[in-house]
Formats: sequence, C-alpha cells, structure tokens
Amino acid sequence: MKNLRLRSGKERSLLRRHPWIFESAIAKGGGDAGETVRVESAEGEFLAWAAFSPHSKIRARAWSFDEKQRIDAAFLAARVKSAVEARGLFDLQSDGVRLIHGEADGLPGLIVDRYGDTLAAQFLSAGAERWKAVLADALLAATGLGKLYERSDASGREREGLKPVTGWLRGNGPTEITIREHDWRLTLDVATGHKTGFYLDQRDSRHRFAELAAHRRFRRVLNCFCYTGGFTVAALAGLKAAGAVDGAEMISIDSSLPALERARAHVALNGFEGARTEFLDADVNATLRRFVEEGRTFDAIVLDPPKFAPTVAHAERAARAYKDLNRQAFKLLSPGGHLLTFSCSGGIGADLFHKIVASAGIDAGVDGYITERLGASPDHPMTIEFPEGEYLKGLVVVRK
Ligand code: SAH
Repeated sequence: MKNLRLRSGKERSLLRRHPWIFESAIAKGGGDAGETVRVESAEGEFLAWAAFSPHSKIRARAWSFDEKQRIDAAFLAARVKSAVEARGLFDLQSDGVRLIHGEADGLPGLIVDRYGDTLAAQFLSAGAERWKAVLADALLAATGLGKLYERSDASGREREGLKPVTGWLRGNGPTEITIREHDWRLTLDVATGHKTGFYLDQRDSRHRFAELAAHRRFRRVLNCFCYTGGFTVAALAGLKAAGAVDGAEMISIDSSLPALERARAHVALNGFEGARTEFLDADVNATLRRFVEEGRTFDAIVLDPPKFAPTVAHAERAARAYKDLNRQAFKLLSPGGHLLTFSCSGGIGADLFHKIVASAGIDAGVDGYITERLGASPDHPMTIEFPEGEYLKGLVVVRK
C-alpha cells in the first residue's frame, strides 16, 4: 500500500469531505497513474483513499473517507448502482439522462449519460481510466443495457496526462440516437456531438422556456449559441401547444454548421412547419452588433454561451465577455421581452453572474425584473460536499 503524506494544515478540506488533493498540499509519497493511495495528514492520521494522478494539478481524487473501505470492483459497482438509482428520485421527463456526474456521485472524473438504450461515457481522471473496465461492466449491470460508447476526448484528459480515446467500449450499434425530452424529440450523435452528444443540463430551462413561450406567445425569438436548437424546439413546442406557432419568427445562431443542420432537422422532426425559422452559421457577438445597428427587436432572447471561465483564474476576462454579450442582448429586447441568460463557467459564481448581468443592463440603459433563477437539471447534482458542482446558472430578466 502506498501513502500520500500531506503538508501540515493541508488536511482541512479532506476533513470536510472535499475530494480533491492539490499538488501544493503534498509533502511526499504517491503512486502510479490511478493507483489507490492512503492519504494521511502531516501527523500520519488517515484521511482518505484516493486515486493518484501523477501529471495533474489535482494530484489525487478521493474515493472514500472511510479507512475500512477497500477500493475494489465491488465498491465501484455499489457507487455506480446508487448513482443510477438516485435518478429515480428526480423528475426528469426525458429518456436522455445524466447517470453519473463525477464527484457529485462519488465517482471523480467519470461522466456517464444515457440516451435511450445507449450509454455514453467520459473517463476524465487517472482513477476513472485505471478502473475503466470495471466501471463499464458495472454500468451495464446497473442499467441492464448493452451498449456503451466512450467519448474520452474532453480537454480535461490532457490535464491528467491521458490521451484522447473514442469508440464503442461495450456492444455496438448506431451512434445516431433520437431521444424524447418533455413533449418533443431531439436527435444526437454520441460519436460526433459536443461532450457526449447533447447538453442534458439545460433540460429544465428548455422546459421553462416552452412554458414562457406558451404564456407570452412570443412572435420573435432569438436563440444564441443554439447548438442543435434545443431552446428553439422548446419555444416552438410551447407556441404549438398554445396554438400560436403560425408566423412565429425564430432565429438560431451557432458557429457549428453540423449542429445547425441538426437544429434545422429538429424543426421538421417535431412538425413545426408553420413557423418562420432561420439558422445562422455565424459569430454571436458580431451578429448581435449587426442586429443592434439594424434596430431589430425580439420578444425572447436566449444566451447560452460556452464556458468562458473554467476556473476563477479566468474570471476577469470572462466577466467582460459575458457583460458585452448581455449588453447587446438587452438592447435587442422589446419592452416586456424575456432574456434567458446563462453562464456554465465554474469560475463565475451565481452572485458574480448576477452582478455582470445587472451592470450590462445599466450600460444598455435597460431596466428589468429578474423573475427567475435557473440552474442545471437535477441529474447534474449539486452536493453539499462538492460546491464546484454548481457550475450552470441562469437568470430570466423581463424588460420593463
Ligand atoms: N443552448 C444549447 C447549448 C449551447 S452550447 C442547447 O440547449 O443545446 C454552446 C454553443 O455555442 C456550441 O454549440 C458552440 O458551437 C457555440 N459557439 C461557441 N462560440 C460561439 C460563437 N462565438 N458564436 C456562435 N456560436 C458559438
């Protein structure tokens, strides 16, 4: 058994059951990539069993804080099973579900999504990589499914010193999948889509947008950073339910052409032919500026940009980028119009995001009611012990 001895005073976060051990906290010791090490305080007291990661700043990630726990196949299978079962507690209204959300589910570095009968997984830490075969078998056992596609090509792998890996890990079949979300259908490709194929974390906010569209009967909607058009489909579904889809104008913008082609196909797939839809392969910032110059306005705008600040170190630059985007959006909002604005940056907290949006409104000369706070769907859990889990936050602002 190998040890990892911390420097004096560095045990505090582990005593609060936070699972990360940074390089700077370590006095001596270690192991091979992904090997289980006994983490101990400067005085030699047991703190955790953790997976060692020789190349990462997060030098080890805790599996368990119980000294009697053996880290083996049975332990990991039990963790997988309890995470899968926990999804039964949540009201998800979709057959696209995040089954394992890394640290929040006690499985650091492991992300698993279920799309219908297919699983898609990312192994993002040295520990998850080392136990890959065990975890894959446990996932099939816990779900009763036979197909698991690996998408270990996220940037986090590099930081762990791991090379990208993609392809079928268990079973095989089509990588193109159709899921049902709320009242609509969406397609994705686990081999080529972003992340594992789709942004499941925005499921509840898309639902809310459908409700708002039905209630307010939006005529002109602008969906920025639309990816495969999830919020566009949601708005159209809401309008259709309210009998108000005919003549509605929907502009969706993204810089990914394959994503836009899929967004366009989603309009036909869900039978929204009566709407006037436009899909722009363009930069959102430049397009918003152009729309402001042209004096255009919208009843609803969605701003769901990519992660500008992965960590607090990037927060300042990211704050400027968020503010600029939101300022342009405010200028395009008609009185009574709804802005749904998001940040998925872990480095920008909810309070800071609120301040950024408020100062964007002030700069644009626009006042508004902040009517709702939005967050990730519950299958992307925030837990008490791992505050980093709260990465996605959103606000609904209604222009005065
Ligand atoms: N709202 C989407 C998810 C958005 S993810 C959903 O519900 O599924 C962010 C998207 O922003 C990605 O699709 C990416 O291609 C796009 N993107 C990133 N930078 C961009 C830019 N400068 N202009 C336009 N789109 C951009």
